[in-house]
Amino acid sequence: MSDCLFCKIVRKEIPARIVDEDADTLTFEDINPQAPVHLLVVPKKHIATGNDVGPEDEALVGKLFRAGARAARAKGVADSGWRGVVNVNRDAFQLVFHLHLHVLGGRSMSWPPG
Ligand code: 5GP
Ligand code: ZN
Repeated sequence: MSDCLFCKIVRKEIPARIVDEDADTLTFEDINPQAPVHLLVVPKKHIATGNDVGPEDEALVGKLFRAGARAARAKGVADSGWRGVVNVNRDAFQLVFHLHLHVLGGRSMSWPPG
C-alpha cells in the first residue's frame, strides 16, 4: 500500500471534494486554491513526476488532459479559459510526488508565471 497522499485520496482513504472520476483519473478541488477554480487531476496509477511518464502511459496522460478539460467545462471556465500546470521537481515547487495536472480558472492569469 502506497503512503502517497494522492494515492490515499484515489483510494478514498482521505476525503477530498471530488468533481470528476473515471476508470483511470480522479479530479478534486485543491485544498489551498490559488484561483476561483483550482482542481487537481491525477492518474489513479501512481506516477511520481512528469519525468516518470513512460511509453505505456501515453494514453493515460491524454486521459488526464481530457479529464481536466471536462472538469473545466463542468466548472464553467472552459470557454473563458483555464491554465493547466504540471510542476516537476524542486525548481517548479512540486510538493506532492504523484503526477497531477492543476486546472486553474475563473480569473485572468498573468504571464510569465512566477
Ligand atoms: P504541487 O506543488 O505538488 O504541484 O501541488 C500540490 C497541490 O496539492 C497544492 O496545490 C496543494 O494545495 C494541494 N494539496 C496538498 N495537500 C492536499 C490535500 O490533502 N488535499 C487536497 N485536495 N489538496 C492538497
Ligand atoms: Zn501516489
